[in-house]
Amino acid sequence: MANIKTVGIIGAGQMGAGIAHVCALAGYDVLLHDVSSDRIDAGLQSVEHNMSRQVGRGTIAHDDMVAALQRIKPARELQAVGKSDLAIEAATEDEGVKKTIFKALTPHLSETTLLASNTSSISITRLASATDRPEKFIGLHFMNPVPVMKLVEIIRGIATDAGTYETAVEFARSLGKTTANAEDFPAFIVNRILVPMINEAIYTLYEGVGTVEAIDNAMRLGANHPMGPLELGDFIGLDTVLAIMNVLYEGLADSKYRPCPLLVKYVEAGWLGRKAGRGFYDYRGEAPVPTR
Ligand code: NAD
Repeated sequence: MANIKTVGIIGAGQMGAGIAHVCALAGYDVLLHDVSSDRIDAGLQSVEHNMSRQVGRGTIAHDDMVAALQRIKPARELQAVGKSDLAIEAATEDEGVKKTIFKALTPHLSETTLLASNTSSISITRLASATDRPEKFIGLHFMNPVPVMKLVEIIRGIATDAGTYETAVEFARSLGKTTANAEDFPAFIVNRILVPMINEAIYTLYEGVGTVEAIDNAMRLGANHPMGPLELGDFIGLDTVLAIMNVLYEGLADSKYRPCPLLVKYVEAGWLGRKAGRGFYDYRGEAPVPTR
């Protein structure tokens, strides 16, 4: 099994920042990279904000927060991530973007660096093929918000070797997470089930069966879901929800996975959910207000 000390993270959005957070608290040195320098700064700020809230709630000690924050270093250039023992890609859910990152990163890696993708849906085998080391490549699918959610789905590509798999499981456990193995099929386990439900909720809205509020209340109170499906779609990011539906639709060639036209329209409008300030709810005021 490989010895992991430094974790590189590519993509400092909601997931990359969350992964940096849990890695630093677990004692790993972290290198955080994004194509946008502003996103690195925003990612670092969000880690600090979220750790401060944990200190406020008494779930972590103030000294542990200070030590963890010192362990996270910005990596302004992608090459800097080459120094890590494990590099986790958490960039936008787009196969082209992810493959370009892996191709650009590969020449800078040490021979032993392991590679992982946090993709929600894209084939690990195909992403691994963009690198020089498919046997050292694995899917590590964290859940949002990373510091809170207990699961990491582990997905082996066709070439992933046993040592990489064992290291990945051990690494996820060292972050306090529980793992579930999924085979390398579109959207794996969690999103194969969850995201079509969100898409169906959007169809329910599109066809006028219920309003945003009625649909979310119905599923919160009627099915005991902690969040309504439209609220959850906004939380995940509607661009990510659409990307996952497209991977399911194309990968499984079944019309039951067709993305709802209303979801497409929201994404085209840039109403991507919470991260954009607006989605099925408008988050720009004091309390979220339904946009339909
Ligand atoms: P996000 O939009 O918050 O962040 C994506 C980040 O990637 C942005 O900061 C963007 O600047 C950066 N990026 C884009 N192209 C890049 C490049 N070429 N090099 C470096 N950085 C680049 O998205 P997110 O919600 O953090 O999702 C990231 C990944 O995690 C996706 O693959 C997504 O499917 C997966 N994921 C998301 C969730 C969720 O609930 N949002 C859950 C699990 C997994």
